[in-house]
Amino acid sequence: MITVNHLSKTYRNPDGTSLTVLKDINCEINAGEVISIIGPSGTGKSTFLRALNLLDPPTGGEILYKGENILAKGYPVHKLRQKMGMVFQSFNLFEHMTVLENIMYAPVRILKKSKEEAREEALSLLRKVGLSERADAYPSMLSGGQKQRVAIARCLAMNPEVILFDEPTSALDPTMVGEVLSVMRQLARDGMTMLIVTHEMKFARDVSTRIFFMNGGYIHEDGTPQQIFENPKRSATKEFTQRIRRVVFEVGDHFDLPGMFTTMTRFCIKNNIPQFCERVEKLGELMVTDIMAAYRPMTVRINYKEIADEASLDFMVEGLDHSPLEAASKEKIQPLCREIIEEPTTRGFRVKLLL
Ligand code: ADP
Ligand code: MG
Repeated sequence: MITVNHLSKTYRNPDGTSLTVLKDINCEINAGEVISIIGPSGTGKSTFLRALNLLDPPTGGEILYKGENILAKGYPVHKLRQKMGMVFQSFNLFEHMTVLENIMYAPVRILKKSKEEAREEALSLLRKVGLSERADAYPSMLSGGQKQRVAIARCLAMNPEVILFDEPTSALDPTMVGEVLSVMRQLARDGMTMLIVTHEMKFARDVSTRIFFMNGGYIHEDGTPQQIFENPKRSATKEFTQRIRRVVFEVGDHFDLPGMFTTMTRFCIKNNIPQFCERVEKLGELMVTDIMAAYRPMTVRINYKEIADEASLDFMVEGLDHSPLEAASKEKIQPLCREIIEEPTTRGFRVKLLL
């Protein structure tokens, strides 16, 4: 469906300097594929999507859409944009129009559909994204998740052959990510061809037929979700997909315990694991002020491995050669965690609680 050969993009700044964001992108995208594009920020993922539908034309290489060179002079760009829909992080809805009017606008204006037909289709699309009841609402009355579902319905109203999503859930409150991803999952099941720039690793792994890991202006690795997330061929891919996020606290005699809990709660919210907040706080309190009260200084860490969806709490005491837990204290923490690991380390002794 789409063939990209040696695509490059250089931005020229007004001061004469330039920045080559896309260096040499090559790929083949087949109809029905769901491809997630992942990678560190600033590596050109958005630039790549904008190049594909010519919102931001590339400076070199070629893009073939169904065999036709879309960079050739005279290629009908507006036709291409109809076939290639785009959904943005920031929704881009028309604020002065109702939900229904937002969805009907382009089909009436551009596809010259009758208002009745466009309205019927818009209502059916709203049912599809679960928003039938909000047809007459204005965007300002909707939550972020609802706005993004309207934006998806609006995109579908043009009957696209492929949809480009640029971080569709990044601007959303964590509680609203799920509703948007579930609409996207349904589209994938319906066979829509989709390119999705996302930081939602679990979603990317579950829904994609293929993953592009972008790094440094290249598609650094292109493979199945299984390859990219479990068995990456290249070290930069592995570093990115298997990264563990963590925060470390050094607990001494005088320590701001409430401050630690606030930071840990923020960590859980930021990583979209609010379900762990309560247990993190309970376990932290028990371990630091009760079970391990005698052991100072101690290092406390909260870890989250996104791809495995595993969170844990570590309590490490330097120089200690035995476990600080006895049977009684284990009984207290057992109900709150999946597993308790007690292990000597090269520096001391660690108690690791898997949540
Ligand atoms: P990503 O989506 O992977 O985070 P982007 O494609 O947004 O990355 O940006 C890649 C690089 O290109 C960044 O360094 C960014 O500052 C730069 N860039 C993006 N758009 C422009 C622009 N219009 N003019 C100049 N530089 C830009
Ligand atoms: Mg981006």
